[in-house]
Amino acid sequence: MAEHFISCKNVCFNYEGRSDAALKNVSLNIDKGELVAVLGHNGSGKSTLAKHLNGILTAQSGDVEVAGYNTKDENNIFNLRSRVGMVFQNPDNQLVATIVEEDVAFALENLGVEPKEIRKRVDEALEAVGMSEFKLSQPHKLSGGQKQRVAIAGVLAMSPDCIVLDEPTAMLDPKGRAQVMDTIIKLNRERGITVVLITHFMEEAALCDRIVVMNDGEVFLDGEPKEVFKHAQKLKDVGLAVPDVTSLCNSLQKLGVEIETSINKDEFIENIQKLLIG
Ligand code: ADP
Ligand code: MG
Repeated sequence: MAEHFISCKNVCFNYEGRSDAALKNVSLNIDKGELVAVLGHNGSGKSTLAKHLNGILTAQSGDVEVAGYNTKDENNIFNLRSRVGMVFQNPDNQLVATIVEEDVAFALENLGVEPKEIRKRVDEALEAVGMSEFKLSQPHKLSGGQKQRVAIAGVLAMSPDCIVLDEPTAMLDPKGRAQVMDTIIKLNRERGITVVLITHFMEEAALCDRIVVMNDGEVFLDGEPKEVFKHAQKLKDVGLAVPDVTSLCNSLQKLGVEIETSINKDEFIENIQKLLIG
């Protein structure tokens, strides 16, 4: 039994026909209840890593253990997938039914769960993502953010310990993005669901407990947002920027202004007030 909920040890993965490996000796532990963002420019290996967390892909060398299962063990793949849910970028590819509540029930029905239990879990899942009032709606009529929350409800109905989301907000407008982020954070904070959020939005990563930065198939930085965003130049070198407010703080500090580094707007306002009022 692994001591961490997710444990990747020296994981290497090379897609067939590619000269360069997509994952190079990735070692990474994630504990139960963590809210972890994974950042990295295109092609840095984020999606490949995500696919290793529920056995869609398996390590060619090294090992991935999740929820006590080695992902290479095919006998456990069903248990593994029921403990680790995946949400992808395009909500349209994830919704299969013509009515929202049927969509959320889809996987449970396939598992042969009793109708009464399905009803209960579907209602709870829709409630948790704030979509109860749309349970009889047609998915294609929903906004992107709503669709993505229905997709999350579908995963949630399986009562997972962990949700892995691969750029779930990439196709959404700012309002949809905010709704989905609020939902993700609530699931983590209120239900203790372990969350691995792949994103290219610095502002989303700043809301997480921890940021893992991938570069060229390797873990490049790993730490609390405040720590990671201190490395503005290093991030720039791998094609990433710090959040705008952080960059502003860095510039002010260079001008001799004694403002603390901020990683989000609220913190920035607080730090400005401290500066002005003392
Ligand atoms: P990211 O999600 O960070 O953009 P990916 O994990 O998708 O990165 O890709 C990592 C590397 O693997 C890239 O060089 C990409 O071109 C390559 N890659 C990804 N998927 C495939 C695939 N199905 N076949 C071949 N190469 C792939
Ligand atoms: Mg990707």
